[in-house]
Amino acid sequence: MKDFVCLGKHLEMQVSYTRASSRLDSRRRSATRDSLTVRLPSVEYVLLRGTIMAYAKHVDELLDLLSAQGKEAYFGEPVSILEHCLQCAHFAEQSQASPSTIAAALLHDIGHMLHGLPEDIAQQGMDGAHEDVAAVHLAKWFGEDVTETVRLHVAAKRYLCATDATYMARLSPSSIESLQLQGGPMSQEEATAFEALPNAGVAVQLRRWDDEAKIPQLDVPGLAHYRSVLLQVSKVPQL
Ligand code: FE
Repeated sequence: MKDFVCLGKHLEMQVSYTRASSRLDSRRRSATRDSLTVRLPSVEYVLLRGTIMAYAKHVDELLDLLSAQGKEAYFGEPVSILEHCLQCAHFAEQSQASPSTIAAALLHDIGHMLHGLPEDIAQQGMDGAHEDVAAVHLAKWFGEDVTETVRLHVAAKRYLCATDATYMARLSPSSIESLQLQGGPMSQEEATAFEALPNAGVAVQLRRWDDEAKIPQLDVPGLAHYRSVLLQVSKVPQL
């Protein structure tokens, strides 16, 4: 169904309305159809079955969640979760990644803010499966180019540990600790199966930015910078 036209940053649509024609005398006056063109910012609104819907709400809720809960320490790392997510998105953007990959980079750890488990769960021998929590939560608004990339970013770490001889030496102590809970390095069979997944390559890229994104006081754009990217890759809502 295509009932709107996107023109650059705008959504353009024809709205019909009825008016009486003044050229006709009062006895013969009849309604004629006329229309006007309405322009709205396409990333904020969508026309569905004749109804204009704003669909920025979920994006603002996600940004609010990152802002409110991202100030927590990031599992023994020298940055907060929010700083980590912003750095990860920034590295993706600097690498000219696609908008969906930048969105995945920003949101990849949002599961830590949703599962409600304490920061030191790894020390307690628990894995909160934050990648699955995030993918399920995000599936309502984003396609698999975002959700599967997020879900696979932990598997990508296990994959890199098995296939890149220099990778494990670059992991932080916290990341090595959680690796064991996440299943350790992949076996050859697991690595082959992982490579066959459609989003495996992007997840590996994300993983490398993820591992770098732990630099104290790095000056990077804030959350508002990514609002339009999240809207751009959001699914059109269904009535
Ligand atoms: Fe991360």
